[in-house]
Amino acid sequence: MILVRSGILVPAYDAPAMVDGAVAVSGETIVDLGAFEELSARHPTARVMGGDRFLLIPGLINGHGHGRGLSSFQRGALDNTLESWIWDTRKFKPVPVYDDVSYCAAKLLKSGVTTTMHNHLLTGAFPPDQEFDDAIMAYKDAGMRVCFCPAIRNNNPFVYGDNKSFLSSLPQPVQEALSSPPPFREEDYFNTVRALHAMHHGSMCHVGFGPVGPQWCTTGLLQKIRGTAEELGLSVHIHSLESVLQKIHSLTALGRTPIAFMRDIGFLGPEVVLAHGVWATENDIHILAGSGAGVTHQPSSNLRLRSGIAPVFHMLQAGARVGLGLDGQGINDNDDFIQEMKLCYLLHRIPSLELNSPHLSARQVFKMATETNASLLGFGSKIGRIEPGRYADLVLLDFGKMRFPHTDRAHDPIEVLLYGGSSEQVHTVMVGGQVVVEGGRILTVDEHSVASRLAEAASRPRNPKEEALVKTMDELKKQVILFHKGWVEKLRVEPYFDVNAWTDDAHGNPLSCEEPFA
Ligand SMILES: [Zn+2]
Repeated sequence: MILVRSGILVPAYDAPAMVDGAVAVSGETIVDLGAFEELSARHPTARVMGGDRFLLIPGLINGHGHGRGLSSFQRGALDNTLESWIWDTRKFKPVPVYDDVSYCAAKLLKSGVTTTMHNHLLTGAFPPDQEFDDAIMAYKDAGMRVCFCPAIRNNNPFVYGDNKSFLSSLPQPVQEALSSPPPFREEDYFNTVRALHAMHHGSMCHVGFGPVGPQWCTTGLLQKIRGTAEELGLSVHIHSLESVLQKIHSLTALGRTPIAFMRDIGFLGPEVVLAHGVWATENDIHILAGSGAGVTHQPSSNLRLRSGIAPVFHMLQAGARVGLGLDGQGINDNDDFIQEMKLCYLLHRIPSLELNSPHLSARQVFKMATETNASLLGFGSKIGRIEPGRYADLVLLDFGKMRFPHTDRAHDPIEVLLYGGSSEQVHTVMVGGQVVVEGGRILTVDEHSVASRLAEAASRPRNPKEEALVKTMDELKKQVILFHKGWVEKLRVEPYFDVNAWTDDAHGNPLSCEEPFA
């Protein structure tokens, strides 16, 4: 038995802070919580860890990611719009999957994340089964909980439109280079997910489906995934409405938004989670809330890939389940989940025309990062709160350091976490009763060796085949940009795009100055 002691304990998003609180852990489970004095009297032989300078919270949960240890920026892709940036990520020199995921897990654990969602996009450099096994093994060895979703796509490989004629319009060598078969046949994909589920399903790992996006999968594939997921009791994680072009494509090709389309084909439901939803309409938000489908919000990723700002506050107001994710694209490029929570908080305190209007609260962000994400990743009643019977996924943060030299005690500790916190103050992290981070250092991953191997793999010169791939991707990117040129003119984008009004017309009674730019 272990007693994890703190100065302030916040057991859940809707629970008050407890002074001198402690948590009793037996094996992988929480068995008791309360005032430290009472708990130590009830469990006198328990080993005590932590202390009164710490803030104790439930393990944070990353709702969406791809297990990237080296970031896309570190590997050479400079952020830009999704549909152009994506081709730069195809130029990456391969790095060992086990090392990349281990490094990612280490960064996440050190920022207080005890469970992550991993959507695995195949690198193409290794056999698919080996990549999946290596990734899952990396989480297992790091002692991190994961919801692992192999990705699949079988539609619109290059542009949102007629890909055959697009491909045939490209120069011959580019066409040839792009004509390699997909890594998965559909049958192989379903067999793989079934096999991974049978082999790895347990308290530390859930397996789910990862169709990459509605515009990147045929209707038949989406429906088959939904049916098989239901049969096996698995979740489905899909990117959707990340970019404006995805919305325009759906409106023009399918006559409705992607969310309305997914509803119409029977795809949506409580086991389905959409990453992003940046371009959701008001009606989409109601569809989401009504279907029970979840959304994960990736604020940094949406800023970095110039996608926009998702209507998260409005989604929550409508009753939709919204979680939070890093997408491997955190604001400081370091997978600091606490910083991501802060960014989410700041973005959705939304500009106000009144002096006191509703906005996202720190506790709502905390809920997104804990209990909501737990349910979106299929670990609903097992993690996300510090409560007897749940897994002992706990984080101790140095609260003294966070408040240094003085922070008013009237603030809720979760507000202090969002204002003064970062992964810098994460001291101890426990996953299922196992200490994986101590004194801010990861115990389960040899970070130094892993980092050196990654650096070595990523920094070697490209071979001639890789040089040719760079040229192909550069040409493809150029052509993809040309293909979608002018598309936004097909859509009314206000009020989403320009946040503030540039006009001064007050209902026909202009307040304008004569020479506004004088
Ligand atoms: Zn993603």
